[in-house]
Amino acid sequence: MKVLLKAVGCRLNQSEMDSLARQFLAHGDALTDSPAEADLMIVNTCAVTQEAVRSSRQSINRLHRANPNAPIAVTGCYAHLAPEAVRQMAGVAYVVDNHAKESLRSIVTGEPLAAVQPFDLEPIARQALLGAGGRTRAFLKVQDGCDQHCTFCITRVARGKGRSRSLAEIVAEAQMLTRLGYQELVLTGVHLSSYGHDLGQRDALLHLLRALLSETDVPRLRLSSLEPWGLPRELFNLWEDRRLCRHLHLPLQSGCDATLKRMARRTSQAAFRALIAEIRTIMPDAAIATDVIVGFPGETDEEFAISRAFIEEIDFAALHVFRYSPREGTPAARMSNQVPEAVKRARAETLIALGERSARRFAERFIGQTRPVLWEAVSGATPQGFLNNGYTDNFLRVRCTAPRVLSNTLTGARLLGFADDGTLLAELESSEAAQLA
Ligand code: SF4
Repeated sequence: MKVLLKAVGCRLNQSEMDSLARQFLAHGDALTDSPAEADLMIVNTCAVTQEAVRSSRQSINRLHRANPNAPIAVTGCYAHLAPEAVRQMAGVAYVVDNHAKESLRSIVTGEPLAAVQPFDLEPIARQALLGAGGRTRAFLKVQDGCDQHCTFCITRVARGKGRSRSLAEIVAEAQMLTRLGYQELVLTGVHLSSYGHDLGQRDALLHLLRALLSETDVPRLRLSSLEPWGLPRELFNLWEDRRLCRHLHLPLQSGCDATLKRMARRTSQAAFRALIAEIRTIMPDAAIATDVIVGFPGETDEEFAISRAFIEEIDFAALHVFRYSPREGTPAARMSNQVPEAVKRARAETLIALGERSARRFAERFIGQTRPVLWEAVSGATPQGFLNNGYTDNFLRVRCTAPRVLSNTLTGARLLGFADDGTLLAELESSEAAQLA
């Protein structure tokens, strides 16, 4: 059977698709990117915003139009929250609840799921996985669900209570992914900072990172979004190990304490400022990225001004701005003082412009320096060589011209300056360039 996998939304959805891909391959199925060739199409949907719902529905419709004969199995947060609406869409043959998605193959084929041990996957050609999306980074899911009650969040409703995978299972999967040739693993979860809390272990994330660093040879390890509270004190000391990427995504959501309180976020200006200071003392070159919601119910002009000033003060390396959209079933959707769309739009534009300036300032700091780059894809060729694209450890997008395709290799590269599209141009370190010549 040829299977097409499509993930909409967050990295967690992508990591789940990577696991499903391995599961299908281990059962002798093949993966395809072409709807025309697919015998089965799977969509892992998202419902975090109305826009995400729209894009989930669009993906399903597009796949059905491209191949009306292939059944579509839909899972993920949107399928969990609105199963009937999904079931009625053309081409949808299966709606698989979030809690059952690990058994998706079994549900669709009626065959029991073979116990897939990491060693079972060894014979799978590395290209089968790496070729699936040309990826060099694998997303490794370590936990699901969340026990917090942020008032805007539909994800916790869709994903349920926090559930962590065992440390041994995660380490075994990381070893397997490393053997498959991935150069970078990205740890993902709905609430990664709470890893292990459901098992009664407050410092479990610390122990997990230590184990991954000592028991695997993975060249690079990156963390996806980390809620900025409850992190063990010694955690950031682990970044002395350069295999941990100097890139932290800490969702702030608002820089105003009054708004944060209505959001039921467990942070404040003071706590967030202290956390950032601690991180920057240990690693001044870290890229600190964040998410911000504008137009949360009751966000006055004054609250927004406080939030904007704080965001400016922190000077993020990347700022992801979202306009608040009410999600049915969340407390915030029932709050009074919903903010008009035009106001949300104007606030979003202000923050996007601010974020672009701070991202540029961050990138500029590294011009002239050499950073480790994982080369991921080639975007073209010139008489001088191939245009290789990749990311530094601190998540700067870089491009370099080299006489060969560098994909899935890690090299040092000196950052030279900006290209017109904002990408940083780089040249290989001289020793590596000499080897390629
Ligand atoms: S911490 Fe808050 S925003 Fe994050 S998943 Fe949990 S409830 Fe949602």
